[in-house]
Amino acid sequence: MFNIYFSMYRTHDCGTLSLEQLNQTVTLSGWVQKNRNKGFIVWVDLRDRYGITQLIFDEKRTPKKVFETAQGLGREFVIKVKGEVIEREAKNSKIATGDVEVLVEELTVLNVSKIPPFTIENETDGGEELRMQYRYLDLRRNPLKDNLLFRHKVNMAVRNYLSESGFVDVETPCLIKSTPEGARDFVVPSRMNEGQFYALPQSPQTFKQLLMVGGLDKYFQIVKCFRDEDLRSDRQPEFTQIDCEMAFVEQEDILIQFEGLTRHLIKEIKGVEVSKFPRMTYNEAIKNYGNDKPDIRFGMCFTELNELAQGKGFEVFDNQELIVGIVVPGASEMSRKQIDELIDWVKRPQIGAKGLVYVKCNTDGSFKSSVDKFFSPEDLKAWAVHCEAKIGDLILILSGETKTTRTQLSSLRMELAERLDLRNPNEFAPLWITDFPLLEWDDESNRYHAKHHPFTAPKPEDIELLKSNPESVKANAYDLVLNGNEIGGGSIRIYDQTLQAFIFDLLGFTKEEATTQFGFLMNAFQYGAPPHGGIAFGLDRLVAILGGEETIRDFIAFPKNNSGRDVMIDAPGHLNKDQLSELYLKSTAVSKK
Ligand code: ASP
Repeated sequence: MFNIYFSMYRTHDCGTLSLEQLNQTVTLSGWVQKNRNKGFIVWVDLRDRYGITQLIFDEKRTPKKVFETAQGLGREFVIKVKGEVIEREAKNSKIATGDVEVLVEELTVLNVSKIPPFTIENETDGGEELRMQYRYLDLRRNPLKDNLLFRHKVNMAVRNYLSESGFVDVETPCLIKSTPEGARDFVVPSRMNEGQFYALPQSPQTFKQLLMVGGLDKYFQIVKCFRDEDLRSDRQPEFTQIDCEMAFVEQEDILIQFEGLTRHLIKEIKGVEVSKFPRMTYNEAIKNYGNDKPDIRFGMCFTELNELAQGKGFEVFDNQELIVGIVVPGASEMSRKQIDELIDWVKRPQIGAKGLVYVKCNTDGSFKSSVDKFFSPEDLKAWAVHCEAKIGDLILILSGETKTTRTQLSSLRMELAERLDLRNPNEFAPLWITDFPLLEWDDESNRYHAKHHPFTAPKPEDIELLKSNPESVKANAYDLVLNGNEIGGGSIRIYDQTLQAFIFDLLGFTKEEATTQFGFLMNAFQYGAPPHGGIAFGLDRLVAILGGEETIRDFIAFPKNNSGRDVMIDAPGHLNKDQLSELYLKSTAVSKK
C-alpha cells in the first residue's frame, strides 16, 4: 500500500508485492505470524501493518545458516529479510500478495519474542481482560488495527471539512477549574499551591466561549474530556469530543453547519447520501418515543389511549395517569408463549411494569385481547383505528405514571426492534432534537439543574417566564441523534452578563460562588462578547456507529475497563509518602514503598 524505498530495513512493506516485482530483490521487515517448518522447506508469514507476505527458505536454494536460523524463528520474532520475489506455486487469492513469495537469501533477527499470551489472529483465543492487559499485542491484530485506521480516517475527514469551512483548531488547557457538565471532576493537586487543586476539563466549554470573545470566530478541537461518572457500561472516564464554537450565529446557523459536517462524514466514510435531517422537539420525542434520542429507523410511535380506554370498568386503566400503546407491525400471530415472554420481560425489575395489555388485530378482521372481559370488539376496533393499527398488527399497551410508563414503553419498543430485527444496520437515520427545557428540578438537592449546562441561553421569547415559571422555559439547545444514539449536543450561549448572573442565581449559586467559579467569564462578558453558540460531538461513539459496532472501547487505542482501570499500565495506583506530602495530601491507603 505504501512503498517505503531507501530504508535499510525495507524496500517494500508486507502488503505490496505482486507479480509486478517478479525477480526483483527486495528487503522486508516485520513480525513472524506463522512458521511452517517442513524439514526441507520453511515457510514464514511475515506481517506488518500493511499485510502479510510469504517467505520461503529452501534447503537447496537458501544459504545453510539462514535456513537453520529460519527453522528456529518463533511467533512474533521481529526479522529483516532480503530475497528474490518469485511466483508461488499454490497461489492464495485471499491476500493481496498471494501470487508471490520471497525466496530469502539474507535473514536478520532484529528481536526475539516470548510466546504471546493469545493468538495474534483475526479470531483470537484471548479473553477481553487478557487482551486489555497486552493491548500492544492486541493492536497487531487486524480488527483492532483496522478500527484505529478507521478512526484516523474519520478524524481526518472532520479536520479537513472543518478547516475548509474556516474553523481554527485551537488547543485549550487541561489543568483548569471546574467546568460544570453535570459530572464530577477529576482533580489534580497543585504542588506549588498548598491545598489547591486543578480540575481536568469535563469539556472546554468556557474556553471556547472565551475564544469567541477573543474574536476567533470559528473554533474546533478534537479534544480529550474527563468526567468522573459512576461507570455505566461502555463509558470511558476520558473520552474525545469534536468540540466546536461559532460567533455571530443563531441556532439555525449551527444546525445547518453541523448537519453539513455529519452528512459529509456519512458520505465520505460510508458512501451513503442522507437527505435533510428531520427535526423533533424534545416534548414530541418524549411523548412519541418515551426518550430524547429516538431511533427513527423503524416506526412504532406511541399512541395515547386514555380517552378511549378509561371509564369502562377496567380498574387497572381507570386510575392511571397514562395509557399508551405501540403497534407492532405484522405481529398479530405472535404466539401466546411469545407474548408471555414479553410480559415477563416488562415485569423484570429493570423495566418494572406491572403488566402488559395486548390487542391482536387478527387477519380475519376480529380482535383478540387480554382485556376482552372489559372491552367490546367495537372498543378494541376504536383503539386500533386511533393507533393506526392495520389488520395483522399487534397493539401493546402499558399504563401508569406518565414518565415511568413512557420510559418502560420506550424500552419495550427497543427490545421489540431487537427481537424482530427491525433496525437496518446500513441505514443512517439522523435526527435533531430541539427545544430542550432549560432547567430540571432535582429532588435530591432540592434545586434546579441546568439541563444542558449553565451557559445555555433560554429562548428569547421565554425569558419573561424565568421568574414566574422557570420550569416551563425552553432553551436554545439541540442534540444530534443518529440511529438512537446521542452523537452531539450544544446550545446558543448566554452572552449577557446580567442574564448569566440571573441564571447562576436560579441554579442556586450564591454571588460569591458564581464569582469564584465563573468570575473570569462574567468579566469577559463585560468586554464586548459576541452572540455565539456551538456543539460537541462524542467522537468515540460517532466512530463506533460509523464503524457499525457498539463498543467504543474497540475504537480507542488504550481504553479503560468497566471499573475505570487501565489494566495494562495498572492505573490508578498509589503514591508514595514523599509524593503525597509534597502535594500536601494524606492517605489512609499509602503504598508499601
Ligand atoms: N460542552 C458541551 C458538552 O460537552 C457541548 C456544547 O454545549 O457545545 O456537552
